[in-house]
Amino acid sequence: MKILVIEDEKKIASFIRKGLEGQGFIVDVSHHGDEGYILATTRPYDALVLDIMLPGKDGLSILRGLRDRKMNVPVILLTARGELNERLQGLNLGADDYLTKPFYLEELIARLQAVTRRASGTPLSLLEVEDLTLNLLTREVKRGPRKIELTAREFALLEQLMRSPGRVFTRMQICEQVWNYDFDPGSNLVDVYVQRLRKKVDGDEPVKLIETIRGVGYRIKGRA
Ligand code: CA
Repeated sequence: MKILVIEDEKKIASFIRKGLEGQGFIVDVSHHGDEGYILATTRPYDALVLDIMLPGKDGLSILRGLRDRKMNVPVILLTARGELNERLQGLNLGADDYLTKPFYLEELIARLQAVTRRASGTPLSLLEVEDLTLNLLTREVKRGPRKIELTAREFALLEQLMRSPGRVFTRMQICEQVWNYDFDPGSNLVDVYVQRLRKKVDGDEPVKLIETIRGVGYRIKGRA
């Protein structure tokens, strides 16, 4: 699989390159939006990893340019925490998925595999676990027909769990993903949020989806 990475932060770009090459991907890297756009439009790639803030053409302009030209190469956006508008705009423009920095390499590889497996042009904006659905584009969460209102952090937490059904996340992993800053490992912040989320998601439902793995962390029901 041939991947183009357009990312101006050289450290991140080289971390991605090394990691993907280690997994057998062929990787081109560009640190500039204009150059990246030329590569993306003139060479065949199986997927693009695209940063949003770039010198020259920014990530969203590159994405728009590709989709205007009817180029359906799968695109994963790299976004910073807080770039919610850009993220939504990106999904609307036809990005297939996004990752929030910082991220684990395994996460990027899983997303790349998912987007390249799918028929191009059909973004995976809906996550599903049993009768629970989470729409990344509209940010609508439903359990069956019941709508669930979530805060931004609760949404991020649920998204993390639903992206990997059955996988157990430690409190630290949840914290890194959802809060993304140093926190006191002794704090019960994650537990408090999980309890709140559980109330909203599982509440009176006969089937409970959010599970506690004692001494380890949390997961959402599903195959591991
Ligand atoms: Ca950047």
